[in-house]
Amino acid sequence: MTEPDFVKRDFIMCDLIAKKRDGGEFGAAEIEFWLRGMLDGSIPDYQTTALLMAIYFRGLSEHETFLLTDAIVRSGEVLDLSHIPGCKADKHSTGGVGDKTTLIAMPLAAVCGLTIVKMSGRSLGKTGGTADKLESVPGFRLTLEPADLQHQAEAERLVLITQSSNLTPADKRLYALRDLTSTVDSLPLIAASVMSKKIAAGADVIVLDVKFGRGAFMPDAANAVKLAELMVELGRQAGRKIAALITSMEAPLGRAVGNALEVWEAAETLRGYGAPDLRLLSLALTGEQLYLAGLAETRRQGFRLAAQALEDGRGLTKFLRFLRAQGGDTAKLEQGGFLLAKTVLVVRAPRGGYLQAVDAARVAGIVQHLGAGRLRVEDKIDHQVGVWFDKQCGDKLTSGEPLAHIYAESEEQAKAAAAALLSACTFSDTLPELPPLIYGVVTTEGFIPWTELQQDYQ
Ligand code: URA
Repeated sequence: MTEPDFVKRDFIMCDLIAKKRDGGEFGAAEIEFWLRGMLDGSIPDYQTTALLMAIYFRGLSEHETFLLTDAIVRSGEVLDLSHIPGCKADKHSTGGVGDKTTLIAMPLAAVCGLTIVKMSGRSLGKTGGTADKLESVPGFRLTLEPADLQHQAEAERLVLITQSSNLTPADKRLYALRDLTSTVDSLPLIAASVMSKKIAAGADVIVLDVKFGRGAFMPDAANAVKLAELMVELGRQAGRKIAALITSMEAPLGRAVGNALEVWEAAETLRGYGAPDLRLLSLALTGEQLYLAGLAETRRQGFRLAAQALEDGRGLTKFLRFLRAQGGDTAKLEQGGFLLAKTVLVVRAPRGGYLQAVDAARVAGIVQHLGAGRLRVEDKIDHQVGVWFDKQCGDKLTSGEPLAHIYAESEEQAKAAAAALLSACTFSDTLPELPPLIYGVVTTEGFIPWTELQQDYQ
């Protein structure tokens, strides 16, 4: 007599949990069995979460991480972009405060010859994701019919849509359970989660921005390099051209944190008025994509091509065309009047000297409090609120001059945010020594430190 299905399945799942608890290594069939059972409901969530905790403590080997990534990719639809001409590229950040580089790098990459078909989720973070930022442009649509997507990819080389609900369903389930059981912070689980989505989204070239520091997932550069090495290896094994920049997220990137403010800053940067850190990182991310795609012979040439596209205005033209192609009304972004918060409050420098540090994590909390981020997917966000920094780390200050502007729904909220912002800043009498924004690049051939890279980024 054969055993009823559920007995067999329960028994095997118990064995899998015990195997990982005791430090064993899974094969492809075991991982497949787990994910299939989790999705069809035959494996209860309490067993999946027990296994996640065992993985949290015991880890996964590189091979197991590859098998898990592959199984997550196959749990849903895999986008086939082969009918869209050209080299398809994607750029992904592990998440930062004020990180609007996608809005700048995408149009620059498109005018330099790449095709960008990007999926971007609405963020659950303290500040909005790229999709949230773009929704601050009136009329902008994040869903397109397949024929319209194809047409726009061919005509503009640039499309951005929300993540298809059929993409990597196993990651959605796993991530929700990890979030509730304190098992998010596991290197192999993060790597499999990020890379499964990137691989399923179909790009030939993938450039990652792995952030470390107060405002990032990874606490320090060494851990960010480890995560990047794992993700680069997963991408390589999946046949993609891939590299990862390792970048600091101690202070917010650029001047704006908040959805409409960040779109405004992206447009300002493409107009040639960008903050130096934001400009540098956006060009480095674009250049790396061009280099990997073979559209630039060297990393330096990739950077230069991106810089030319920014300086001669082609990037801005492409950005505005892309917004309009997806229904966005760009009039206010072009002529002013785009920032519509009810209250704008100036925060003044409490002393002279230098702005030494701005705690990115605290700024994210302030902006979330103002209403720019969400805790649940269904939460509404306020696109207009946020912070604009008139000064950045290392800037000289005179007592009483504007340090930042708070954009808020009410004066009360603005005042509370201003007080919190001042306590997130530290000041010094002498010029602070700031570490480089870009710590290095992880490629399939190894790690290149900033000291060797900086000559390429000019
Ligand atoms: N981002 C993801 O997509 N997955 C993780 O596990 C962590 C960050």
